[in-house]
Amino acid sequence: MNTMHKMQVLSDSAQYDLCDYVNRHTSSSANLPGIYHSTVSSGCTIPLFKVLMTNKCCNDCKYCINNSKRNFTRIELTPRELTRVFLHYYQKKYVNGLFLSSGISGDIDSSMEKVVEVARLLRLEHGYQDYIHLKIIPGASRDIIKRAMGLADRVSVNIEAATPSGLSEISSTKDYHTDIIRRLKWIRAIHKKNPECAPSGGTTQLIVGANDESDADILKRVKWLYDKMDVRRSYFSTFQPLEETPLEKRPPGNPIRSSRLYQADALLNSYKFKVDELIFQEDGFLDSTLDPKYAAAINMDIFPVEINQGPYRDLIRVPGIGTLSARRIISIRKKHPFKKLEELKKIGVVVHRAEPFIKLEGNYQSSLDSF
Ligand code: SF4
Repeated sequence: MNTMHKMQVLSDSAQYDLCDYVNRHTSSSANLPGIYHSTVSSGCTIPLFKVLMTNKCCNDCKYCINNSKRNFTRIELTPRELTRVFLHYYQKKYVNGLFLSSGISGDIDSSMEKVVEVARLLRLEHGYQDYIHLKIIPGASRDIIKRAMGLADRVSVNIEAATPSGLSEISSTKDYHTDIIRRLKWIRAIHKKNPECAPSGGTTQLIVGANDESDADILKRVKWLYDKMDVRRSYFSTFQPLEETPLEKRPPGNPIRSSRLYQADALLNSYKFKVDELIFQEDGFLDSTLDPKYAAAINMDIFPVEINQGPYRDLIRVPGIGTLSARRIISIRKKHPFKKLEELKKIGVVVHRAEPFIKLEGNYQSSLDSF
């Protein structure tokens, strides 16, 4: 099998690992395997080369096409093969960065070693300085994680589930606390001591819909990851049943659910909401028909907020006012108090959403009932 054929297989094998923020590249300029668009820490979308080193794996994750129980052709790229293909894509400007994962071929550390070797070859032998994201294999040793972080911009460990019991529903070979949480703690400690190691920090990913966890379970866990583990970002991957996997008959996850989770996650991560400010239905799920910020706002007793006096904390709780527009309001109102809705519109407030929740110079803009 030639290298490009292996690339096609391993790029397809990486699909289990796609979050809803990563899309397969469709441009005809590069109809080649392994090119995906991804949102990076700055919020920009960049084309990344995303591939597995190998689809061999001794784990039995039930949602994954590479799980050890499946009988299919297993292949592996060498670090030098992968480096060569990546540099070709990079020099042709098909991609701006590398996102590298691996199944487990042999033991965990020798698989992780090959991932780190690709980053070493790129950085030290080829002088490559752009983006590298390395996925840490659950159970990898502290030493190898530290070396990975010394070479990568960002690392991640997929937590997959919100609770230990949720993980045991979908994998019998990964231990939630030992293989995953302990590794996240090491990443936090290594980055804290050496901020130049993985300067963009650590991220994680959860699968939505592969087990019976609720949105409340998921959002409590991601809040804990932000507050206690210094995780920069959580990604959600909507479960898709794959043929010949143990979960092939489970209904697919709902992408609308994942997009509501992303909205609620932004409230926890960027707006610093507490989980108990979010509104869940009795079964622990968000109302899929409502924006979580709006659902939270109609249950808060802080409204209407006076635009010319309200604190930042209250302003960012107004639907239609984001963190940037709240900061603009605060810096402008000192010298030029706002008098009209049009002035708010000019600085980025989505006025028709904000109206029922604000007062301008003491006047209500509209009532929630009329809204
Ligand atoms: S560890 Fe699990 S999710 Fe990752 S490749 Fe192996 S079976 Fe798939």
